[in-house]
Amino acid sequence: MPAAPASSSPASKSSAATGLLFVVSAPSGAGKTSLVAALLERDPALALSVSYTTRARRSGEVDGRHYHFVDHARFEQMIAEGAFIEYARVFDNAYGTAESSLRKTLDSGQDLLLEIDWQGARQVRERFPEAVSIFIVPPSLAALEERLRGRGQDSDAVIGERMAKARDELSHWDEYGYLVVNDHFEQALGDLSAIVKAERLRTPRQAAREQDRLRSMLGGMPSDMP
Ligand code: 5GP
Repeated sequence: MPAAPASSSPASKSSAATGLLFVVSAPSGAGKTSLVAALLERDPALALSVSYTTRARRSGEVDGRHYHFVDHARFEQMIAEGAFIEYARVFDNAYGTAESSLRKTLDSGQDLLLEIDWQGARQVRERFPEAVSIFIVPPSLAALEERLRGRGQDSDAVIGERMAKARDELSHWDEYGYLVVNDHFEQALGDLSAIVKAERLRTPRQAAREQDRLRSMLGGMPSDMP
């Protein structure tokens, strides 16, 4: 568990004009990346945060789109500068979310999704208590292992390491606000969409969007409306 990143800015203030922050975690092999990709396709109002990482680029990955690929020295420098809202070390690599781009997106009113591990999710919840956190549960450990092997990119030793890490990630399920079981892809996708939609319909958000309607019906609203 890394030390909490240093920061000079205060925790975010809940505001209806600010975009919603979603945090999604899952053990590797649970299908998180495919689910999130499908969710984003279905919901153009949702943006995906692009993390910084020191890990090597996999084939097909594009710098600036899947990750910002940086070397260890640059990553350590960003930590020292307090550039990360959260970061974590996973295996031999480091991953982090830049605070400036996160705040810019949220301040513009855009909803943002972070696909990060439990260590990062914990740090985000500390800084943004209003963040909506979702944990994706695989159908079984056997299914998880099968998916990891199906990728065909890792040796037995690496698969063993990834399974141990997956069990560790799984043990943090109860720190999340929502649990989505990825037994059937379409159903899990529907569950994710429902969570996003329900969060957007919460009263403070709707009150901000529907101020004029509510005012016109009620002849004025309290000035301290959320
Ligand atoms: P992968 O190397 O397979 O892309 O990701 C490995 C793990 O790192 C996944 O659990 C992924 O969610 C997590 N991860 C990716 N970006 C970040 C980040 O910015 N912060 C944290 N804490 N974890 C991340």
